[in-house]
Amino acid sequence: MEKKVSIRVVVTGGAGYIGSHVCKLLVKRGFDVLVIDNLSTSSGRNCRYGHLIKLDLAEEEKVLAVLKEFAPQIIMHFAAFIVVPESVERPLMYYYNNVGNTLKLLSAMKKAGIEKFIFSSSAAVYGIPTEIPVSESAELRPISPYGESKAMVEKILRDMALAGEIRYVSLRYFNVAGADPEGEIGPLYNQPTHLILRALKTAKGEFPYLEIFGTDYPTPDGTCIRDYIHVMDLAEAHLLAMEYLLDGGESTILNCGYGRGYSVREVVEVAKRVTGIDFEVRETGRRPGDPPVLIARTDKIRSLLDFRPRYDDLYAIIRHAWLWENKI
Ligand code: UDP
Repeated sequence: MEKKVSIRVVVTGGAGYIGSHVCKLLVKRGFDVLVIDNLSTSSGRNCRYGHLIKLDLAEEEKVLAVLKEFAPQIIMHFAAFIVVPESVERPLMYYYNNVGNTLKLLSAMKKAGIEKFIFSSSAAVYGIPTEIPVSESAELRPISPYGESKAMVEKILRDMALAGEIRYVSLRYFNVAGADPEGEIGPLYNQPTHLILRALKTAKGEFPYLEIFGTDYPTPDGTCIRDYIHVMDLAEAHLLAMEYLLDGGESTILNCGYGRGYSVREVVEVAKRVTGIDFEVRETGRRPGDPPVLIARTDKIRSLLDFRPRYDDLYAIIRHAWLWENKI
């Protein structure tokens, strides 16, 4: 992608896991990046690229002032709560932050005359899909407040786009994993719930054993299958989506995955090989709300954005995550 010196980008949640990787790519390619983050779930340690303003999106007037002054051509909106079981326990907190604060951001954006928007959506909007791989046109039947909050924002975006107020790309992430191959940034969670992080932290000795949640699913080895995408490929997808909108592209929704899946057992096997550590694994019962198989149909992102992943390789994903784990 060509260097675009004059393009200004606001990244909400740019101190978080995915946002910080996107910021790195943006800055490396010459974009002018302003991060708005309240640092509620991140420390700022990963915010090495772009200028950080510590601000909560609930403060609409302050956000508006920042947007007016920086005058970005586009906003990328990552800031959200992301823990599915927590959303089941504290739905209001999720709707307030993920929907309420997004409404405030959109309203400030409209007042500031900014038109282009990239939204961090999730495969959680599909719930338990009836077709695999699941395409963007599948019915949305989220089964958690987290997934519901993402589906709600997608509806708001659709209606604003229909009214001619915005042009947007909603990126539905599948299972994002891995870390910056250069080892500068990566996931920072004290209590990670995601499989690859749990496995690597178990290998490090931070957990006594890894649980496999459910071995009686209707899959070849009985464990759930997911489409793991390297965070750097996902970051690249954001830059392509931005380029698409800047070039005048129509509003659209795109799955972000590789279009193939690995079972929990396969992930555990690769994690053991990459780390060289035969950590303890215990098979336990199913975790509520887990769809047996979640794999993206990816023809849309491949054709519309010419998305060509560089790290479509579970070994590379886990190797880069391990490199990072050993630095923190
Ligand atoms: N999983 C597991 N043990 C763990 C964490 C996750 O067996 O410690 C399983 C989980 O039940 C699911 C898959 O790994 O089938 C991926 O879960 P993860 O939380 O990484 O992502 P999700 O698909 O829920 O977004």
